[in-house]
Amino acid sequence: MSAIDKLVELQEIDSQLQELEALLGNLPEKVAELKAEEERLTHSVTTQRNRLKEIAVQLGKNELEIQSCRENIDKHKDQLSLVNSNRQYDAMMAEIEHLQSLLDQLETQNLELLEEKSEIETHLSSEEETLQSLSADLSERREKLEKRYAATAAEKEELLAAREAKVQEIDKPYLRQYDRVYQARDGLAVVPANGNACQGCGAVVPPQIMAEIKKGSRLHSCDVCGRFLYWET
Ligand SMILES: [Zn+2]
Repeated sequence: MSAIDKLVELQEIDSQLQELEALLGNLPEKVAELKAEEERLTHSVTTQRNRLKEIAVQLGKNELEIQSCRENIDKHKDQLSLVNSNRQYDAMMAEIEHLQSLLDQLETQNLELLEEKSEIETHLSSEEETLQSLSADLSERREKLEKRYAATAAEKEELLAAREAKVQEIDKPYLRQYDRVYQARDGLAVVPANGNACQGCGAVVPPQIMAEIKKGSRLHSCDVCGRFLYWET
């Protein structure tokens, strides 16, 4: 096998590796993105459920306190007719007022809690629905992506082994030039010269050089971009 044929094959392997890299590069990112969204929603749903529990407890406590306030107010009102001094009367009235204001506070707080509860319930049910469909979507995608990942991983391993073997066959100076051009020219170091022009950069290749390229007798590279040139049959 001529030097150029080996370089063509190396480029072929590297191009396939590039395609795999491009494909794999996106996969973990995509799964991570969905997973992050699932975590965010799960956290949000949990927080809201906890808040609903707190509200239920607080509403229950307030309800008991409201009950006891009302009973105390009634009791004090009953006792008003029994007091026999202005001072006692004023003290009793002050106590009733105090209880009444406490009762108002508790009732206001309960209204606010009920409003918050209703808002959370609406929001929560929509988030739970989103989470449910997202989780189903995620697990389906994750499975699909992992399968593809596994499939490409095997292919990648094969390509890397083939590359390793191919590199052994190529003379070191050519390999160094290949690596240098590969880095500098976006991963394309070997191109056809069909049409009497470098297919990498479009530079015209002189007829004498073209003849040698067609024969494959000597290794040539483009004067302009440095890519190896070959005749694609
Ligand atoms: Zn060129």
